Amino acid sequence: MSADGALIECESLVRIYQSGPVEVQALQGLDLVVERGEMVAVVGASGSGKSTLLSILAGIDAPTAGRARVDRWNLLSMSRRDRVRYRRQTVGFVRQQTASNLIPYLNARQMVDLPMTASGVSTAERRQRSGELLEALGVGSFADRRPAQLSGGQQMRVAIAVALANRPHVLLADEPTGELDTATSAEVFAALRDVNRDLGVTVVVVTHDPAVSGQVERTVAIRDGRTSSEVLRRTATAEDGGTHVIAEEYAVMDRAGRIQVPRDYREALALTRRVRLALEPDHITIRPDA
Ligand code: ADP
Ligand code: MG
Repeated sequence: MSADGALIECESLVRIYQSGPVEVQALQGLDLVVERGEMVAVVGASGSGKSTLLSILAGIDAPTAGRARVDRWNLLSMSRRDRVRYRRQTVGFVRQQTASNLIPYLNARQMVDLPMTASGVSTAERRQRSGELLEALGVGSFADRRPAQLSGGQQMRVAIAVALANRPHVLLADEPTGELDTATSAEVFAALRDVNRDLGVTVVVVTHDPAVSGQVERTVAIRDGRTSSEVLRRTATAEDGGTHVIAEEYAVMDRAGRIQVPRDYREALALTRRVRLALEPDHITIRPDA
């Protein structure tokens, strides 16, 4: 695995769940690189392995095979003690169900306080940090409210503040806008972008909302437990001085040279098991085996 300073590196990551006699391959050789300071959206159909990937990166679930590194931690060979430290200090995790991130009988400030208490942060520092975080997420005036007294969007902002309490390098959010209406989810997403830009936290966010994924510079698509394509967006300046966003889709190639040919391409040319490849001066052609 390269040591070029990427914060997250997954290579040929495999996670097999055994449910009774049935084996489910949730991840089937997934590759992913996330640079420090990046904000990446992960998209994919239900069941494609997005939550599995995030819970592995969060240190909650362990991969079956492959490689996964976050910062200096190897997620396949971490001791139990390191795993606790990793979860406490390196990553912040916002779970898919809003409610599962919050504790019903605590108010917002107490909830942000909790992870810091576990890490031995002093009372004065905790007080300052929780105030700052709730403020940064636009819920500073709700510090004394319990989850039931907050709207869905406010609950999610508090959950993000809780995840950021111990100054993690990475914030992982699993469909944080999944239960919210369009306007509220745009706000929550904007809050994630602010956190990425202002606090320098690397953000990996799972979403099925195309409007939301269209706002980040890089979107990684997962299909059947593998990274299938990436969309990169950049702002270009036209001759008249106006700016517009250019989105380009790339297929992802793993280290063994495998790429996934999209289904509509395969169907259009009736590509099946065997195809003909030909190397041209500046590209490669793929033809049906006729
Ligand atoms: P996504 O978040 O993209 O919807 P998941 O990562 O939750 O996908 O699930 C990927 C696949 O793994 C699905 O087929 C799902 O049913 C299966 N799966 C996830 N968690 C478990 C588990 N604990 N036991 C058995 N199968 C699981
Ligand atoms: Mg999921």
